[in-house]
Amino acid sequence: MESPRYVIIGAGFAGAATAYHLARRGVKDVLILEQERLPGVHSSGRNAAMVRQVVSEPVIAELALKGAAFLRSLPADWPVPVLFQQSGSLLLGGGEGWRKLLKDAEMARRKGIEAEIWSPEKAKERVWVLEDADFEGAVWCPTDGVVDIHALLTGYLKAASACGAEVRYGCSVSGVEVKGGRVTGVQTAGETISAETVINAGGPWAGVIGGLAGVIDAPLRTCRRHLFVSAPLTWVNPTWPFVWDLTHDLYFRPDSGGLLLCPCDQDDMAPGDPPLDDSVAELLAEKIRRFVPKISDIAIKKRWAGLRTLTGDGRFAIGWDPKVKGFFWVAGLGGHGVTTSYSVGELAADLILGGGAEGGGEFSIARFRA
Ligand SMILES: Cc1cc2nc3c(=O)[nH]c(=O)nc-3n(C[C@H](O)[C@H](O)[C@H](O)COP(=O)(O)OP(=O)(O)OC[C@H]3O[C@@H](n4cnc5c(N)ncnc54)[C@H](O)[C@@H]3O)c2cc1C
Repeated sequence: MESPRYVIIGAGFAGAATAYHLARRGVKDVLILEQERLPGVHSSGRNAAMVRQVVSEPVIAELALKGAAFLRSLPADWPVPVLFQQSGSLLLGGGEGWRKLLKDAEMARRKGIEAEIWSPEKAKERVWVLEDADFEGAVWCPTDGVVDIHALLTGYLKAASACGAEVRYGCSVSGVEVKGGRVTGVQTAGETISAETVINAGGPWAGVIGGLAGVIDAPLRTCRRHLFVSAPLTWVNPTWPFVWDLTHDLYFRPDSGGLLLCPCDQDDMAPGDPPLDDSVAELLAEKIRRFVPKISDIAIKKRWAGLRTLTGDGRFAIGWDPKVKGFFWVAGLGGHGVTTSYSVGELAADLILGGGAEGGGEFSIARFRA
């Protein structure tokens, strides 16, 4: 590739899915630059792999619905087998949280997402460890599930490469060149690469990359979240759905013969490899004891942490930068970047190829600059 027109910074779900959609539409000159030697080293390889469609933001529900549909029927020429276990989800709520969840379920149904209201008894029948749990009701979404994130990410990248995109690993972008208010390229340790469009898909580093282009006011927060996996447990049924107690911020699902668990911690953290915090294991133990006592007696075998990148209003940041021409954002995917990857990439490609000055509607960058 002589001089790519489109340089994408970051080979996580944001960058990979955007490259896939651009390449699939016949765009040949797409170059992805990834600082790590492999894809999925950061958020895209460290998440809980859950595909969840019942959410509070209507625009995210729409992207999630489309994203889940894509996983159910991958294109015939998809280059990598991707296991999507459509085991469903049970979202639990109590008090104010339950009333909010009922509204979310109603909104989800209007969008075409299956969302049934279950009594606590019915939920406990499906997942018996909820027996002593305290909740007013559950929302059952049968089309949710768990996806093989590494296979999915590899699939986007391979499919993009098959259509002519190039991925360079171990290639960190250290500068974004802007001349006369328009991007002209990026700098790496070894060279300056000219480009008409620079796509910021840097995940937790998106704010830093914005800064390289002179955009210093990106309203993005990076927050650490820990995940834990128990030793194998004979009583776990591998067909259980993922269970998310939204009132007490705790989720678990079958994984590796045991359970994957998360106490939904959220601490602001600089981009990078987040350090582990022992107190979060205590928080998890405390939440389990109080809210799902039947699973109190588990040994944790493995834990890790990743960063979620959040915007102030919970919606994503997808669109052209209003100040720097040719600089495009696909960032702030929060806790939905796996589920919505297909549709986020599609929306990004629509806006990039549409050539609009701002675009992105509810996800636009301009909304932060009002
Ligand atoms: C604990 C946890 C649980 C989660 N669970 C779920 C879930 O169950 N379901 C779901 O849908 N979502 C979940 N998420 C959210 C999901 O993981 C993210 O939304 C998604 O991975 C974000 O993808 P990304 O491409 O924006 O970021 P990343 O995957 O972080 O990709 C950004 C890439 O940019 C690269 N990069 C950065 N700076 C540069 C530079 N200067 N030069 C070159 N490359 C650079 C990085 O190395 C990185 O690979 C979870 C997240 C966490 C942390």
